[in-house]
Amino acid sequence: MDIKLLKTSFDDDGEASERQHTACFIVNGVVAFDAGSLAMAVGADREKVRDIVLSHTHLDHIAGLPLFVDDLFSTLRSPVRVHATQAMIDALRTHIFNDVIYPNFEEIANEYGSVLEFREYEFGREFTLADLSILAAEVNHNEPSAGFIISDETGSIVLTGDTAGTFDIWKAASEARDLRAVLVECAFPNSMSGLADAARHLTPSGLKAELEKLNRNDVPAYLVNIKPMFREQVLTEVEALGLPNVRVFPIGRTVCV
Ligand SMILES: [Zn+2]
Repeated sequence: MDIKLLKTSFDDDGEASERQHTACFIVNGVVAFDAGSLAMAVGADREKVRDIVLSHTHLDHIAGLPLFVDDLFSTLRSPVRVHATQAMIDALRTHIFNDVIYPNFEEIANEYGSVLEFREYEFGREFTLADLSILAAEVNHNEPSAGFIISDETGSIVLTGDTAGTFDIWKAASEARDLRAVLVECAFPNSMSGLADAARHLTPSGLKAELEKLNRNDVPAYLVNIKPMFREQVLTEVEALGLPNVRVFPIGRTVCV
């Protein structure tokens, strides 16, 4: 399975910076998980990605979604399909595609037909997109928020999205077939555990506790969604934990697991 974390920001030379402001993962070149920088950084996969699965509706996970539909508007032969819970769909309709923040693309067709379609998924019920089977588990963040077990013919991965300490995703992971990798958030350093708890994110200490629930030292755990301002501090603290299977997911790169 190929997983790409799209670039989110750029250094002075125009190269992808190591600061991750938004979240968007392209799996096997065709399905996007979250859409933080989708319109801005999808590159050649722009012509193939038509399914976007949302973990939750925080801005850093959806910012590139309305711009992506806008960018493709005149060329779409079939709608961009956004997969989300009903509550997330309601939030997008009310707060984003409301003809105030951005046009209501559900109501504006191009010459081929509709350009945006919402499809509901439910926690605990597996669904398929392209060559992927996807199981959403509710996690402990802005309500509702999902983590995902994503499987193809080669195996499965866990993508936690944003979450504080949680359970269902790890139970689902323990039942996943041929688990290849875990992508887990670690937003704040330990010194900011109060804010991390309030915002329902993990610190390195919390990360350690979550990985102990999974109890799979044979599976690589890639850190994602680290707050850019605290990235170096978080990585220093994670390194001090001495967890042999933990590494950082490279921004702007594809990892094959
Ligand atoms: Zn969030």
